Amino acid sequence: MDAAVQGLIANLAMVGVFAAMWTLLGDAVERLPVWGRGAGLGLLMGLGAVAMMSLPVVIRPGLFLDLRVSLVAQAALFGGPIGALVAVVVAGAYRVILGGAGIVPGLVLIGLGAVMGLGVHALTRGQAVRRMDVVLLALGAMLVSLLTLLLIPTAMIETALPNLIVAVPAIAFLATLLGGMAMHTDEGRRRTERLNQTFRQVIETLPEALNVKDLQGRFVIANAATARLMRAPDAASLIGKSDADFYPPDIAAQFGRDEESVLREGTSKELEQRLAFDDGTEIWLSTLKTPLTDAEGHPVALVTHSRDFTARKTLEQELDRARSQLEGAMSGMADALIAFDKDANIIFCNDQYRRLFPLTADMRVPGRNLREILRVAHERGEEAQMEPDEVEAWIDDAVTGLHEQRDREIHLADGRWLHSRARALSDGTALTVISDVSSIKRAEEALTEVNKHLKQLAATDALTGLMNRRTFDEMLAKEFSRSARHHHPLSVLMVDVDYFKSFNDTYGHQAGDGALRAVAKALKEVARRPADIVARYGGEEFAIVLPDTDTEGATAVAELLCEAVRQLRIPNGRSSRGVVTVSVGIATGSRSNLLPAPEDLVRQADAALYLAKGQGRDGVQAYGDAEQGGSTRNGGAAEIRSAS
Ligand code: GH3
Ligand code: MG
Ligand code: MG
Repeated sequence: MDAAVQGLIANLAMVGVFAAMWTLLGDAVERLPVWGRGAGLGLLMGLGAVAMMSLPVVIRPGLFLDLRVSLVAQAALFGGPIGALVAVVVAGAYRVILGGAGIVPGLVLIGLGAVMGLGVHALTRGQAVRRMDVVLLALGAMLVSLLTLLLIPTAMIETALPNLIVAVPAIAFLATLLGGMAMHTDEGRRRTERLNQTFRQVIETLPEALNVKDLQGRFVIANAATARLMRAPDAASLIGKSDADFYPPDIAAQFGRDEESVLREGTSKELEQRLAFDDGTEIWLSTLKTPLTDAEGHPVALVTHSRDFTARKTLEQELDRARSQLEGAMSGMADALIAFDKDANIIFCNDQYRRLFPLTADMRVPGRNLREILRVAHERGEEAQMEPDEVEAWIDDAVTGLHEQRDREIHLADGRWLHSRARALSDGTALTVISDVSSIKRAEEALTEVNKHLKQLAATDALTGLMNRRTFDEMLAKEFSRSARHHHPLSVLMVDVDYFKSFNDTYGHQAGDGALRAVAKALKEVARRPADIVARYGGEEFAIVLPDTDTEGATAVAELLCEAVRQLRIPNGRSSRGVVTVSVGIATGSRSNLLPAPEDLVRQADAALYLAKGQGRDGVQAYGDAEQGGSTRNGGAAEIRSAS
């Protein structure tokens, strides 16, 4: 073989050596920034070029060849502008130091290598160098070396030319290709290494458990979160162990079954797993299990990703519990409960609501609007009848009432009374409680009736049916002030049955009661103007108020009273008249008799009665008449005939 070709092959080996050196330095320069790595590569390749220039292939004295283009081009391709610059400076400086006639073409050659490398580097657009780029660079190197050969004067290489013209470009191509490919592979390896490093960090710092198990369930890879979850000291202590080494047996067995099913089915599966430790703590995991398969699709491992969602699960359980408690309370309560939204649509309601309104139960469900429900309730005759023109106003009132904290009474056509109480919440929701108050309503009505009756009983005298004394006093006070206001006269008459003790003694108490009843009736018939008040004052004593009546009028009425009683003709053998009679005392309040109080009128009437008795009974005496010389008008002497 030609010595020159042998030399070139040695150069080729040198390219390989420098590429290998870069690979060896790799891990050290890996920590440098990008520009530092570029400069390092430039320096190494520059030194490679220096080494080649110092051991050149001598074609003939004064004519040298080497593969510096290849190294400088690689520095530019893999190290970018900085790599190119450093390589050019180092190699160029050495070439200048070497000196000689070939200094200019030598420097041009170095420059060409850099330009070519940068050109291809630009094609990568900042991405990783591809195989194609390396091939392109090798072709470039081949072209440059061919050009170099052609530029050498033919006289200098005439004998060697046929060999060199093939061998030099071929070796330049090969050297660049092999060196470039070695560098490319190394770059790839480093990139993978960096990527792996990143992945490892991501997995390690992942707050969620991520691990890989073999088919026997033993951990192959596990991150720190897995170790924390399993309460292992660290991730390394998990390797080779299985769930059974950390979890209670039943939990480990359940997890084992989960994993078996994933491996059997060959597809990813999402699971909710409950983890209970011996110390009583409970953890809920949301787990994704994915089988890893080989090229033939057979499972080789299982990837597990678990997220602790205990907090959410606890909240969910809490929510479920609260919801079912609420539902229980709602359906257990005696009243109907309904929530309406701000547009009066039902949000929720209990069964009692439907039970209270059987004719429209189908309408009373969530989503329905109150207006619609009420319209149907009216059509079906559920609500008590109302005029057709009242319906819309009634619906409006019910709907606006929802948001006005209003209580309403609902009267149903079947006679039931319901009480509805609405309360508005701040978010526009209205809560309404409806109770059946029919029985309360009935009790109320009965009570009112009883009260009325009791009042009447309390106001009247049982024997005669007249007002009793208490009522009389009240009525008198009222009439008295009315008369005083209008300056009308008012007369009070005290009526007492004569010799009644003797009557009772003679005819018995029963007959006495009968006589009192008859007298009461007679009195009532005489004093019959609507404003007249007739009362039993006590025992056999009656009191009468005659509004707007002066003494004269009262005297006339009193005489009619006496006559009416006489006309009853109730025999009284002990009386000189032979029948039951009464005596009447009159007192009149008027301008001339301005009395301070109604009691005074009664007292005066009583005093007059006392006089009437004294004057023989069965007669009338007006207060004041006696002092003024007035006489008792009576039917004649009234005295006890027989001593009693
Ligand atoms: P005088 O003519 O003076 O009024 O004689 P009197 O006997 O009527 O008077 P006195 O006050 O001594 O007697 C009243 C009697 O009236 C006493 C009582 O036996 C009788 N008396 C009072 N209340 C009732 C009653 O509710 N029923 C009956 N049967 N008698 C009554
Ligand atoms: Mg009496
Ligand atoms: Mg009497």
